[in-house]
Amino acid sequence: MKPFDFSKISKSRSKRIMSVLLAGILAGSLTGCVSGSSTNSEASGSGNSGLSTSSLDTSSLVESSLLPSSQEPESSAAASSSQASASSKASSSDEVVPTGAGTGVGYKGSDWRLRVPNIENPLTEDEIPDLAQITRATDGRKHYFDARAIDNLNAMMDDAAAAGLNLYVISSFRTMEYQEGLFEKRVNQRMAEGYSRAVAENIVAEGTARPGTSDHQLGLAVDFNTIEDGFEKTAEYKWLISHCADYGFILRFPEDKEDITKVMYEPWHYRYVGEEYAKEIMSQGICLEEYVSQL
Ligand SMILES: [Zn+2]
Repeated sequence: MKPFDFSKISKSRSKRIMSVLLAGILAGSLTGCVSGSSTNSEASGSGNSGLSTSSLDTSSLVESSLLPSSQEPESSAAASSSQASASSKASSSDEVVPTGAGTGVGYKGSDWRLRVPNIENPLTEDEIPDLAQITRATDGRKHYFDARAIDNLNAMMDDAAAAGLNLYVISSFRTMEYQEGLFEKRVNQRMAEGYSRAVAENIVAEGTARPGTSDHQLGLAVDFNTIEDGFEKTAEYKWLISHCADYGFILRFPEDKEDITKVMYEPWHYRYVGEEYAKEIMSQGICLEEYVSQL
């Protein structure tokens, strides 16, 4: 695999990551770890991998999509944080409180559409949904989505295409095995740099969801087109923001909610929650965590 191309990280994104990191440092929210940023890029980048659902043809999927070299957004945040926290290596402590992706507010109520897995209530094996393949438009790899919501996804993409837009899926359902492999690989990379396990996990979690806590593992999240901030300047993004709620989708990680979601702004990541919830969330300008915390 090629190493991550850091030149792809937008300046504005890096700047924002650094500024939030510094804010976290100043706030002194963590003991012995200056990487206690509250921001993260929820794991994106790769599509599906390691699908074990027997009814699906997974042979090519596993080989073609495991850790693609082209886009690994998680690395950008982790790389920036490692620069900011280089001095923390010596003071690393295994008593560091977990931060980052997977530590936000969760919800495990009766409505599957509002499920927000987190570190205290991670996904379980019996929550793996029936999946349906996304056929409308993808990056060429096989992608899967929760079968209960795929009609909504298809309808949204059909209507976007009818509006003359080029909207396609680059990441969707992920298995636990995939998320574990992704997370472990990056933790090991940090530990090789001298960080303790606990500190390494926190650094990685700034950009990669902890296993069992990714929206992608729910089969209810998709990343569109590109994992760069520049996506927000496209006609596709503008259309999504205006229309996604009509199909039951929300912008999952808004720019001004990073302190609540614990995940970096992701203009490309959309989550299905159902039309009635989506309209409330999008019209109120709140994030999913805020919505479910009121329930
Ligand atoms: Zn995503």
